[in-house]
Amino acid sequence: MDKSKLHPDTLALHGGWRADPATGAVAVPIYQTTSYQFKDTEHAANLFALKELGNIYTRIMNPTQDVFEQRLAAVEGGVAALTVASGQAASTYCILNLASAGDNIVTSTNLYGGTWNLFANTLKQLGIEARFVDPADPEAFARATDDKTRCYYAETLPNPKLEVFPIKEVADIGRKLGVPLIVDNTAAPMICRPLESGAAVVMYSTTKYVGGHGTTIGGAVIDGGNFDWEGNAARFPLLNTPDPSYHGAIWTQAVKPLGPIAFILRMRVTLLRDTGAAASPFNAFQLMQGLETLPLRMRRHSENAAAVAQALSKHPKVTKVIYPGLMTGEARRRADAYLNDGLYGGLLGFELKDGAGAGQRFINALELLYHVANIGDARSLAIHPASTTHSQLSEKDQVASGVTPGYVRLSIGLEHPDDILADITQALEKA
Ligand code: PLP
Repeated sequence: MDKSKLHPDTLALHGGWRADPATGAVAVPIYQTTSYQFKDTEHAANLFALKELGNIYTRIMNPTQDVFEQRLAAVEGGVAALTVASGQAASTYCILNLASAGDNIVTSTNLYGGTWNLFANTLKQLGIEARFVDPADPEAFARATDDKTRCYYAETLPNPKLEVFPIKEVADIGRKLGVPLIVDNTAAPMICRPLESGAAVVMYSTTKYVGGHGTTIGGAVIDGGNFDWEGNAARFPLLNTPDPSYHGAIWTQAVKPLGPIAFILRMRVTLLRDTGAAASPFNAFQLMQGLETLPLRMRRHSENAAAVAQALSKHPKVTKVIYPGLMTGEARRRADAYLNDGLYGGLLGFELKDGAGAGQRFINALELLYHVANIGDARSLAIHPASTTHSQLSEKDQVASGVTPGYVRLSIGLEHPDDILADITQALEKA
């Protein structure tokens, strides 16, 4: 069987694994070990010199994580992946794998708040400038680029605006200038395939839909293997000049025999080795259980959210519903260009006529939906961003980021749609 022709739904169950070579176990075992016995000193020396790939220490690699990584790469259409302790670790490593003090990145303004803080404040502390541009105008990425620009960064389906990012438009601009596009696909796994539209790297907070059960924090980076790091050597010194921490290895050269995986291998053996945001084997196992049913769950999340969006759009207390499937014009064109099968994901927002007080009354009246700062759980979730996640912003900045006082964010889960709607309807009566 040609495994490269399998569909993502099949790869989510079979990627990277057949059975445990030691026991025949079909489920991937949790290799809860810190370290691995070397066969002899030559074997140990080869592993450390990367002449041979194999297990050394669980901060850097682990067999349970390895299956999860292979499976994620297969599902996403990439060449290799790295799993780490959180989505924040994944985005941090993506940037630090390319940029040093004095460099810059160009990023979409539509970002998760944690990523915004990382880029605006922590990267600044490290001497890396984040240039924020409005993704409504893809050419803004080109205008912000100079010879110190190391990557473009964006989220596929950023909340609260939920306007799908112009992936191909910006990836094409970047490829002409020699700049890779990194896409955070956390809100749209399975329904969007950024690598097929020209992105070079995809990252996830696997905490959300990939895990799906609200039990585990995790992050992943998938290398598309489709970017010419060597051909743009002047832009990527970290990948094209001798690395003093690895006997002077030049990553694009040293890794060539292993395939186009210089980006992800460097991330593992330098950044993860040195800064240590390692995923635990148990967490990799938990997240893998989620990945196995992700295709089914994304369909159900999307169908349920579409039903809620329709119902809310007819409700007299609701002035606006923010959902890709209800958008018109350019925003709808992008949603349909990048999201598969008319599935628009499980996130939606709506605005209540009576502002912040109504938003808070709605949240307090919910009986089935959970009031939490999370998305992508199997259970339906709700939050009032103006008084929580966005409360530190001025009202003007809140509105610019898409959060009006009466805005409520929903992450629609897998319950029966009638039950979700019944809870929302009774809470709206009290709002
Ligand atoms: N990216 C997006 C789009 C997110 O929603 C989140 C978390 O909410 C993150 C990244 C950060 O992920 P984590 O919470 O796993 O560190």
